[in-house]
Amino acid sequence: MSKAKTGRRTLDSYTVKHISKTIRPGDCVLMRPSDSSKASYVARVEAIESDSRGTNVRVHVRWYYRPEESIGGRRQFHGSKEVFLSDHFDFQSADTIEGKCKVHSFKSYSKLDAVGNEDYFCRFEYNSSTGAFNPDRVAVYCKCEMPYNPDDLMVQCEGCSDWFHPTCIDMTPEEAQRLDHFYCLDCSSEDQKKLHNSHVSTRHADMKDLKPLQLESENGEAMPFAYNLGKKGGEWRYCLVSLELAFYALRTPN
Ligand SMILES: [Zn+2]
Ligand SMILES: [Zn+2]
Repeated sequence: MSKAKTGRRTLDSYTVKHISKTIRPGDCVLMRPSDSSKASYVARVEAIESDSRGTNVRVHVRWYYRPEESIGGRRQFHGSKEVFLSDHFDFQSADTIEGKCKVHSFKSYSKLDAVGNEDYFCRFEYNSSTGAFNPDRVAVYCKCEMPYNPDDLMVQCEGCSDWFHPTCIDMTPEEAQRLDHFYCLDCSSEDQKKLHNSHVSTRHADMKDLKPLQLESENGEAMPFAYNLGKKGGEWRYCLVSLELAFYALRTPN
C-alpha cells in the first residue's frame, strides 16, 4: 500500500467543480493563462490522472496554438477562431480548466450556421520548435492569391470556379451578397458581365450566405486543399505557410 501512495491513477473522466463540467480524454478545453490579461489557452485533453487518493487531479494536455503564438505570427488568411494543433504537451492542474470548447475541422467550421464563443477550427498541425506547418502548402484564391480565411466573404466565378474577395473585384460586400451570377473579368466580356453579374434585389442574404466556400478533403479533416477550388487555367495555386519561407504564391502544374 505504501507504494500506491505515490502512484498516480488514470481517470476516465473528471468533473471540474467550479464550472460543473465533466471532462474526458479527447475533449477540448479552455485553460486559464498565468497572465490574466491574455486569452484562455486552447488544449486537447489527452489523459486525466489523480494521486492514489483521487485528489490532485492533473490533465495531460496537447496545446493548440493561436496564430499570434506561432513563430510566424498571425497572417491575413488566419481566421479569428483558428488554432494549430501543436506538438507541445504539458501537465496542468485540472482546476485551471475554465470551460470546454470545440475545435472543428475546417470543413465543419465553414458549415456552422453560427460561430459561438466555444467554436474554433484547426487546419494545420504546428511544430513548436521549428515553426513548420503540416500541411505546409495551402490553396490560394482570388486576384490577390490569398488562402481562404473563413471569416471573409468570397464569391465564386461560374466560369473558372476561382473565388474572389468583393473588394478585389471592386464590389462592396453588400453588392456581392446580392449577386445571383458572377463571372470574373477573365471569363467575361463587358457585355456578358452586365448580363451575368446580375443583382437580384429581392433576395435577402443572411450571414449564412456569406460563407459560400466549403472546403472538402479526402478525410474531411484539416486539409485545406479543395477540389475544383484554387484552380485556374488547369493549375492549382498554392502558397507556402512555413514561416522560414517567405510568404509567396507558387504555381504547381498538374
Ligand atoms: Zn482577393
Ligand atoms: Zn472566372
